[in-house]
Amino acid sequence: MALPREYTQQSCSVARALEVVGERWSLLIVRDAFFGVRRFSDFSAHLRIPRAVLAERLDFLVGEGVLERGTGTRPVYALTAKGLGLWPVVRTLAEWGDTHYGPRGPRRLFTHAGCGGAVDPVGSCSACGQGVPVGDTVMSPGPGFEAPGEGANAVSVALASPHRLLQPLR
Ligand SMILES: [Zn+2]
Repeated sequence: MALPREYTQQSCSVARALEVVGERWSLLIVRDAFFGVRRFSDFSAHLRIPRAVLAERLDFLVGEGVLERGTGTRPVYALTAKGLGLWPVVRTLAEWGDTHYGPRGPRRLFTHAGCGGAVDPVGSCSACGQGVPVGDTVMSPGPGFEAPGEGANAVSVALASPHRLLQPLR
């Protein structure tokens, strides 16, 4: 889980941040939390991540203060203020992926719930010029989106329709 010690001792903030979200599953869990996934079973079904690994990564992200875990027999996970600060990272990575590995165009489009304008990776609306909070951003399938096939998990099906970020998917 941890990176080599020499690396952790570097003072670079990028290296420090990567210790928290540089592991592949961690950032995908964070991405799904922005998409409105909240339950262990939904993260598990959508990411197809081994349950033991998922439990470990969720505990780690809660410990780092990126996610908070609700109480109850079926706890839900939500991004903290610290976690919400990762949205431009997730969004910019998606855009980079679309540019270099998305031949049919973006998989997902992000628009301002208030006016319908396109929202850029740092949350600025191209139509009204406002800074758009993450929760006022609507995510819709883009030209590169592949519709979920028959028998797809409930999260994939829900994400095939326009959806406000952070709004619980189900
Ligand atoms: Zn706008």
